[in-house]
Amino acid sequence: MRKMKREHLDGTVPFVFAAQFYREPGLPIAELKRDMRKIKDLGLNTIKIQEAWSYDEPAEGRYDFAKMDDLAGEAERVGLKVFFTVCLEVPAWAWKKYPGSEIINQEGRRLYSRNGYGYTDGKPGPCWNHPGIRKAAGRFLAAFARRLGRHRNIVMWQAYQELNWWHTSLECYCPVCFNLYRKWLKRRYGTLERLSAAWMIPCRAWDEVEPTRQRSGPSFSDWWRFCREQAGAMLKWRADALRSNDPHHRPVSVNVSGPHLGQEWEWMLADNADICGVSFYPGYFHVAPVPGLAKGRIPGRAELLPNDMWHTCLWFDSIRVAARGKPWASEFQAGAPGGAFHHGSDPAPEDMRRWLLLALSAGVKGISFWNHRPEFFGGEGHRYGIFGNDMAPSPKTREIGAIVKAVTRRGALFEPGRLADVEAAILVNDDNARLLDMHSAAGMEVKAIQGLYRTLWRMGVNADFIAPADMASGKIGGYKVIFLPFQMAISGANAELLAEYVRGGGVLVAEACPGRYSERGMANLGTGFAPGLAAALGCRDGGIRMCIEQDGTHYNKGYEPATWHDAFIAPAHLKGVGEFKGIALPASFYVETFKVTTGAPIFMHGGMAAGVRNAYGRGTAYVLGTFPSVAMMHSAKDAGLERALEIIIKRAKIRRARLGKLLLRRLVSDAGQVWFAINPSGKPVTQKLALPRGAEAWNLLGGMKVPDRITVDAFSVEALVIGGRAAASESAEEHA
Ligand SMILES: [Zn+2]
Repeated sequence: MRKMKREHLDGTVPFVFAAQFYREPGLPIAELKRDMRKIKDLGLNTIKIQEAWSYDEPAEGRYDFAKMDDLAGEAERVGLKVFFTVCLEVPAWAWKKYPGSEIINQEGRRLYSRNGYGYTDGKPGPCWNHPGIRKAAGRFLAAFARRLGRHRNIVMWQAYQELNWWHTSLECYCPVCFNLYRKWLKRRYGTLERLSAAWMIPCRAWDEVEPTRQRSGPSFSDWWRFCREQAGAMLKWRADALRSNDPHHRPVSVNVSGPHLGQEWEWMLADNADICGVSFYPGYFHVAPVPGLAKGRIPGRAELLPNDMWHTCLWFDSIRVAARGKPWASEFQAGAPGGAFHHGSDPAPEDMRRWLLLALSAGVKGISFWNHRPEFFGGEGHRYGIFGNDMAPSPKTREIGAIVKAVTRRGALFEPGRLADVEAAILVNDDNARLLDMHSAAGMEVKAIQGLYRTLWRMGVNADFIAPADMASGKIGGYKVIFLPFQMAISGANAELLAEYVRGGGVLVAEACPGRYSERGMANLGTGFAPGLAAALGCRDGGIRMCIEQDGTHYNKGYEPATWHDAFIAPAHLKGVGEFKGIALPASFYVETFKVTTGAPIFMHGGMAAGVRNAYGRGTAYVLGTFPSVAMMHSAKDAGLERALEIIIKRAKIRRARLGKLLLRRLVSDAGQVWFAINPSGKPVTQKLALPRGAEAWNLLGGMKVPDRITVDAFSVEALVIGGRAAASESAEEHA
């Protein structure tokens, strides 16, 4: 990521609060201009406009930016800034001029995405490696940035709207992509002999080398990695074109519709843009699973709210780390959600408050609401407005305004603020995500991260996410404990980094089968673990059995006959021994037993060790013989994992970010601190405040000085600005 200037062109460093304002085909411009004043009055400082190539270059070389110019100019007069998203919807003339520029999928079919709306950024759009279409789009990006970039009130550009990993459209099997792939392989392997050895198939001529169409096998990892790199290169090309042609070279962002939990996708995007953001629609799209809910029953508010709180923190913590401390909430739900005829409830004022404060607690650097008034475009029509269609404010609108104004007044605390007290990290690993996808287990890593994060969050343990690149750069040494949730594939290189971390004094907590397979999906038959991990873990694989989950379900995908069920073990708990005596660790997916070498058993199953602790170098490694993080997503109450983690966390000397019964997230910078006191329970909690010596606390919302105790409502958050001479003395933990 490039280093960015923090100031806007007018010399201010405001916290950006934007509202999605216009995209083609949109509402009448005269009406929109009137809306601008109400947006400004509410306290927002920016409007977001999605522009579309198909509208603004009606014929080759003829650009029509009049509407965009008009909106940006009017915003400037009103005192609003602009955040432009450029959607490269291909105009009809370009499709006609460049036949053969469509993406070709793995079955050899052309994907005709000839849809000129400025609505989805193509998705998939053309093959951006096609030289003709790429050149034409590059000319358009340059013209757009040169012309619109003259407006001094532009905050930033967004180079792609919701760039997710869709392998069905980002893996292109066209001749241009094949040529690039062969060049990429030549750089990587040099000779056909070395390629053959890596792919474990005979490769006899470079022009015969093609990606596998099976989405499996040892060669697939190269194709998968190549295609993801191509997406990154496409983003970089767009970002460079916008930034270099903008007369003021303002930053370029990208966003995803949701974090790709367990994958390195957002890390890769952040490498290729200045800002990486995430969309956030918790009321509809992002409801976390409610463990123990009877099939078909719709959960009530009290059941959803506890999940809503940790899940919101997970959402933004994930992007917080991937975006190297500069995360954005690029689309933030502000109205009733829905698609097609589904119509959800408008968020209550307390929903907006909870979501906004929790997002801020992760250190987001800007928030862009979706939309300023209900959506016009049919698929999402009638939904998603801060205001009603008549621009009349509701109690929710006023709550948004109050929070926006309070944060704006204290912008200096939020813009540089970082989440403090982070000593634990959770591994994200593309090799693992790819293997799970190959073996029909996609999403297990997501469940595992959700279950682990939820448990840590409830305990008051803040967590970062760490990608292999962060391990290799030495960042891993900054953590006291690293968790490996559902890590079935670990490369030899990554396993060595993990073993080295333990040798150097770190604490590693692995679930069952860490690196049972290589990064190419081959079985590690020797110890059952990735090379090097057996020594660190003080044991080797002793055998696995699949198990029925605590709620009676199972993961026996594809093998339904009863004979196969016979191989399963009934819902099980691993039995703690020694220091872990009395703890029943819930089993999920597999129960793995171990042949202990240098370690000591901490859990048992059927008379065999099913959990081992090992002192290794200056550190300690744990392996739990099942996936308790996944079990947590099948059970609302099972405390086994939390009790086991209590011991591990205490031994690792991890600080618990708590304020009595409340959870505490501290945003810290040289300018001071903001404390977020979180009540995840269904009852109000009153708590004595333990402030640093000489410090005073003020309510962020309302601005009142807080006496020595606070009350936080059920499922609610209070934000406190910590002032006074000692407030800025505690410096932030520099993890993010
Ligand atoms: Zn292609």
